[in-house]
Amino acid sequence: MSEAILGIDLGTTNSLVGVVDSGFPILLADETGSRIVPSVVHFPDGGGEPVVGEAARRMRALHPDRTVASAKRHMGGGEVLVAGDPPVGAEEVSAEILRHLAGVAERAMGAAIGKAVITVPAYFNDGQRNATRRAGEMAGLEVVRIVSEPTAAALAYGLDKLAERSRVAVYDFGGGTFDVSVLELNGGVFQVLATEGDTGLGGDDIDRLLAARLYAMAGGGAFEEASPMEVARFLEAARAAKEALSEADAVPVRLPFREGGEPFETELARGDFEELARPVVDRTRAHCRNVLAAAEVEGGELDAVVLVGGSTRIPLVRAVVAEVFGQAPDLSQNPDEAVALGAVVQAGVLSGALRDVVLLDVTPLSLGVEAFGGLMNVIVPRNTTIPVKRGELFTNAVAGQRAMKIRVLQGEREMARDNWPLGEFEIGFPPGAKGSARVGVQFSLDADGILSVLARDTAGGEDRVLEIRDAAVDVDDERVERMVSESVEHAFDDMNERVWTEAKMKSDELLPAVAQALEVAGGALSDDERQEIGGRVAAVEAALAGGRGAALKAANAELDRATERLAALLVERALDG
Ligand code: ADP
Ligand code: MG
Repeated sequence: MSEAILGIDLGTTNSLVGVVDSGFPILLADETGSRIVPSVVHFPDGGGEPVVGEAARRMRALHPDRTVASAKRHMGGGEVLVAGDPPVGAEEVSAEILRHLAGVAERAMGAAIGKAVITVPAYFNDGQRNATRRAGEMAGLEVVRIVSEPTAAALAYGLDKLAERSRVAVYDFGGGTFDVSVLELNGGVFQVLATEGDTGLGGDDIDRLLAARLYAMAGGGAFEEASPMEVARFLEAARAAKEALSEADAVPVRLPFREGGEPFETELARGDFEELARPVVDRTRAHCRNVLAAAEVEGGELDAVVLVGGSTRIPLVRAVVAEVFGQAPDLSQNPDEAVALGAVVQAGVLSGALRDVVLLDVTPLSLGVEAFGGLMNVIVPRNTTIPVKRGELFTNAVAGQRAMKIRVLQGEREMARDNWPLGEFEIGFPPGAKGSARVGVQFSLDADGILSVLARDTAGGEDRVLEIRDAAVDVDDERVERMVSESVEHAFDDMNERVWTEAKMKSDELLPAVAQALEVAGGALSDDERQEIGGRVAAVEAALAGGRGAALKAANAELDRATERLAALLVERALDG
């Protein structure tokens, strides 16, 4: 029997641990019988042993400055979360949680397990993944794999539920992050067709809104100005009320002992809560529509929509999901446990305790090269499943050219300069007429996210290869979102600029060619024909001065049509001569 590996969901709000035992993936409970451990750590004044989990969560209202929650939001950021000697950052907090989970496993299994698979949000960048790895190492664990959460969740559902070729959406609404992905199961292989998300959207946002509302109802005024103690207590009351309202139609809210304030008591109805929560829940809609568009699937065509994350217990969330996907969500797995269960399954696969399942990823942004005129030429579109191999043939723009610069770019904008440069290199070829060179450019992105760009002079010349590690696949969530939203924002300007650039290149080619053709074969045309062509040339020149892409494109087309016979005459002459 091979060495066991732990599966860990290191969540923003809650964390869980499990292991494959006798062929079954199981989640492990702590001594209080709970499998869900709040991701909260309290560091006692004077430097005693840190307190982790539910006990720490309860300390939060009393010692907000020495108690850390949602540390995952700061992973890789380097901030100090608790002042002291030594200062505590997100990695140390995460390490304490992981040490605690390893302890839960050791007690439950009767032996220490030193290896782990840990999940992270789909869009965690390299720095955040590495910080998670380091936290594991600080906790004495060998981190054998970092797995993204929606993929882990799909694995959990896939084990006992999915049929071949099923396509599912995974909607994960937790405490601090939101992800939605579309995956396909093929011969035991999960393919991520597309993924979208927001690492700054979760149940915490609802808690804050509700806490501020309750604080105002309690006569407290602006919540931002409340004392840290009051903030913690109102957040706690808000969270409890929110969770209770997932079952009940109305709940009492009581804060009997307040720092200097009047005791507060009220009743909160589900309808009032939903009105407050709706804007937060509605922010997930656009991501769902985008992920469907990117995966080229209609919500109704999906075989299942699975819900993951504690916030999907809110009835309003389920209603919104049903609406955007056009079908009722599947709740066959416990939504707060699905990610952890998937991590355990992945751990079981890696340790050999379960059958093999391969995981594939997608490109977060388009990859391409700069083309003539500074345009972006996309070779691998955004949301393409990796591994992938795609190529295109390029030629020389001017006669006598001896080399071509290949600038590798990433991004969604039409103009090369607005995208991010990943690297560049040159490929040489023998000089010749314009358009005589044949340079094949091939992008291959392997399963580890390493991009190799090969440029080849297809006339038997040289091969040049540029290797780009990580950058192509590991992009910070926020940067992806910013790039995508900028491309939407600038869609019209960008498109106009592309049309203009393309039309101008065409005019620059057309005008001297027409002038030369008139010189060589103009005598064979009628006066009317020459006048017509002259008029069209003037129209192109006017459009060039006018600066409008669509007008220039139209003028080019007119000139092209007017010179059809002239072009034919030229060809004839060339054949005769
Ligand atoms: P994360 O992945 O961010 O650690 P979880 O999946 O554990 O988070 O979800 C935690 C969030 O789910 C919290 O905001 C919590 O308040 C919320 N939550 C848990 N149970 C319920 C419930 N019954 N109703 C509404 N929200 C819930
Ligand atoms: Mg989660």
